[in-house]
Order: sequence, then C-alpha cells, then structure tokens
Amino acid sequence: MHGSFHLCGKGLKLHDRREIESLGLQAHLSRGQFRTVIGVVGEEVKVDPEHLKAITGVEQVLPIMKPYKLASREFHKDDSVIDIPCPKNGSVKVGGTHCLAIAGPCAAEEEAMVHQLAREVKAAGASVLRGGAYKPRTSPYSFQGHGEEALKWLRDAGRENNMPVITEVMDTRHVAVIERYTDIFQIGARNMQNFNLLFEVGKTRKPVVLKRGMAASIQEWLMSAEYVLSQGNRQVILCERGIKTFETALRYTLDVSSVPVVKVASHLPVIVDPSHAAGDRQFVPALARAGIAAGADGIMVECHDCPSKAMCDGPQALLPDTFAGLMKDLHAMARVLGRQFNM
Ligand code: PEP
Ligand code: MN
Repeated sequence: MHGSFHLCGKGLKLHDRREIESLGLQAHLSRGQFRTVIGVVGEEVKVDPEHLKAITGVEQVLPIMKPYKLASREFHKDDSVIDIPCPKNGSVKVGGTHCLAIAGPCAAEEEAMVHQLAREVKAAGASVLRGGAYKPRTSPYSFQGHGEEALKWLRDAGRENNMPVITEVMDTRHVAVIERYTDIFQIGARNMQNFNLLFEVGKTRKPVVLKRGMAASIQEWLMSAEYVLSQGNRQVILCERGIKTFETALRYTLDVSSVPVVKVASHLPVIVDPSHAAGDRQFVPALARAGIAAGADGIMVECHDCPSKAMCDGPQALLPDTFAGLMKDLHAMARVLGRQFNM
C-alpha cells in the first residue's frame, strides 16, 4: 500500500518540494492555472499527513485514492498537452484540442520504401512517421527488423519531411541507440508490463507511446504509465490497440470504451491504433473514425505501397490514398468536436 497525497496551495514553491524530499518522499510538481499541486508519493508508513500540513505554502492535504498517482486526473486536472519537436522546425502537439496522426509502415523494410512512404503519408496528413526497426514477432523464424540500419532510414526520412519519428523499443539494451535516432519511443502491447523497460524509457526525456497490452485492464495500463512517469518523464501518450475478447471476427477488439474511461481517469493523451485491432484493412477507417468520435487524441495507422509484398502486417496496411481519404473524414470530425489535427 502506498501513502500518496496532493499538497495544494497557491504559493507552493520548489523549496517546499525539497522539504518533502528531505522526508524521504518523492515530490512531483503540477502547476495549473489556479493552483499548484505537489504530488507526494511514498510508502504509507513514512507519510504523516500532519507533517505535510506543516510545510510552508500548503493550504490543503488531500489523499490520492487511485493506485496510479501521477497519471490520475486528481493529480493534474487539465488535459496534458505533449509537444514533440520536429526535426527541422516547429513541433506537433497531442492532447487538449490537438489531435495527432501517426502513419507509416509496420516495419522499415528498405531505405527507398521508407522515404517514399514518409512523403506519401505526410502529404496525406500524417505529422509523425512510424516504422519498426526491432519487430516483436510471434515466430522466432519471422523477419525481426533491420535494427540500427532501419533507424537511420527513419531518421533521414523524418528529417527530409520534417516529421518526428516513432519506433518500437523492445529491450532495455536498445533504449540508447533508439534514443539517438528517433523522437518517440513506442512500447508495444507485448511489453506493456516489461517494468524494467518502462523504468528505462522513464529515465529519458523523449515522449513514450504506451500501447495497451492485449489482455490488460485499463487500471493495469495506467499503472504501466505510472512506471514511466515515476522516473520523471511526463510525456506519456496512451494507445488503445485492441484487446482479446471472445469475438474472433477480427484480430482483436478495439476497446473504444477505454477512450472515454481513460479520459475521466487520467490527464494523459490517448490515441487509437485501428490497424492492429482490426488486422484487416477494410475495417481500419471505421475503427479510426470510432476512436476519434469517442474522444481519442489521434490515431496510429499502418500504410504500405504494396501491401501484398509487405514483410509484416500487410493485410491491415492501408494504401496511402485510402489513408488520405480517411484523414479528410477525421479533419471534418475533429472540427465538429472542437479539435484540430496538426497540419
Ligand atoms: C506495431 O505497432 O507494429 C505493433 C507490433 O503493435 P502492437 O504492439 O500493438 O502489437
Ligand atoms: Mn504492425
């Protein structure tokens, strides 16, 4: 059991936080429009609320009831907006009123294909380029990704099109090399509870897209986000990518309900990945639209110029033209919902 509290007060300052840390507790600052909150997290036995009340600037001490503390809406009332710098100039935002479209191939298969797809998905309305360099495959005999070589292709294609790049990290040993070449870490569904990996990306200062495990509850997903946040990395973007249910018609079942549920429970942005949920391109646009209608802060979609020749996940890849059509729908929907996609 953890003892965690919010310390609220208009004039709370950094030196108050040092006072808290001297008690052997972790302090996390959240500055809102009307008040400053310090989240105090520690073992219950060590936390004495009376002691906390005595700290300078503290007006109120409130217990945090949720097991996830820093991820909770109680800790941070406003939607978190994550700002991702682009390689050449400007940045893209996700959260609040900002929606993000991430697109690209499942795997970076070769240099020319990565460049070609980057140009196409950018023209179609994506602002972040995806591509796998280290692939989590069910079979050890399947293509495992081109590793560092692929990271270079992605970096160069990102630079050429002024798009931040996201790629999956599967192993703590790859965090440093992936950090060198790319802008956003993706934690895949299979690694959602790889706690050492979560700690490692938590120690970096690059955004992390945290996919929901295919058999994970929403609470477990948010606890995984907490692992990253607890290390001081506040830039976590959640991604619903489908869960296992009794239904076998599609690869997974996109849990659209998780989007509004997460929005109530947490301040973190949440996007949907309709590609892995469906596993079949004909259903991808409908699921993407459903996600945005439910309040998601964006989508991540797999695209390929020749899906029948794709080295992985071909059946679910959209042709860039189809993706462009989908983006038109999503722009119109976002407008109705008072939101906008990065351009
Ligand atoms: C992917 O994005 O290519 C991927 C493997 O996704 P997931 O972890 O959701 O299966
Ligand atoms: Mn894939």
